[in-house]
Amino acid sequence: MLLCIRDKMAKILIIGAHPDDDEISAGLTALIALKEGHDVISVSMTQGSARNKQERLAEWELASARMGYTKNVIYDFPDTMLPQCHTDLIDKMRDLAHEYSPDHVYFHSNKDTHQDHKAVHDAASVAFRNGPSLYEMMAPSLQMSDFRPHIFYETTDILLPLRKAYALSAYKSQADIVSPQAGFMQMVTYGRWYRTKQHVRTIAESIDDDKLLHEIVSMNPFEIEPRNNDLHEVYKGIMALCPLGTIYAECFEPNHVVPRW
Ligand SMILES: [Zn+2]
Repeated sequence: MLLCIRDKMAKILIIGAHPDDDEISAGLTALIALKEGHDVISVSMTQGSARNKQERLAEWELASARMGYTKNVIYDFPDTMLPQCHTDLIDKMRDLAHEYSPDHVYFHSNKDTHQDHKAVHDAASVAFRNGPSLYEMMAPSLQMSDFRPHIFYETTDILLPLRKAYALSAYKSQADIVSPQAGFMQMVTYGRWYRTKQHVRTIAESIDDDKLLHEIVSMNPFEIEPRNNDLHEVYKGIMALCPLGTIYAECFEPNHVVPRW
């Protein structure tokens, strides 16, 4: 598929400003890549606000574990103040480039309205300008009218978007802004949008991981209220949100993409 560079597996870096950004903007893409056996390294440049750092760190660890990243990395740059750290951000990202030699790097868009996201964009554009393919991620803080995605990663395997929602539900302290259900429906929306594009082939897969599905249903990330605590009711509630054949997708704007597949 798209991420596979001929006969070698790809190394993918996803760089977000805050602990939840990677899952929000590229969680499905990461899961598709991981399932295909590629390495995915998730990076957060801050640990969230100083007020509840320990809580944010614990949530980030849990979300990363639920995602199953190859590796997760977190730095301690000051939340909301990344624009003041431009050269230090570049240095750290150069370290990442040196350590991991990624084939593909995903980071925030320059059309993002959050100052930390913009700062990550500016630093990553410099640090990774020689080599990997670069992709700009969508985020809720993006100016949608200006975003022109034409790279879509999509799947019909419900387990992957469910797993993204499951990972997002770890961010309890951010529950007012990070909604697992909104994240899930966002993937359905882009999946519909994807139907009008034909850049990526469909990966039609069946639900084959009963254990994980059971775990997700037990966690009930969408807080469906079952009668008699019946897990099958939760499963049916989730399936009602996404009938069979639904396409789930995330989209990206290419920054500097060398088509090597
Ligand atoms: Zn963020």
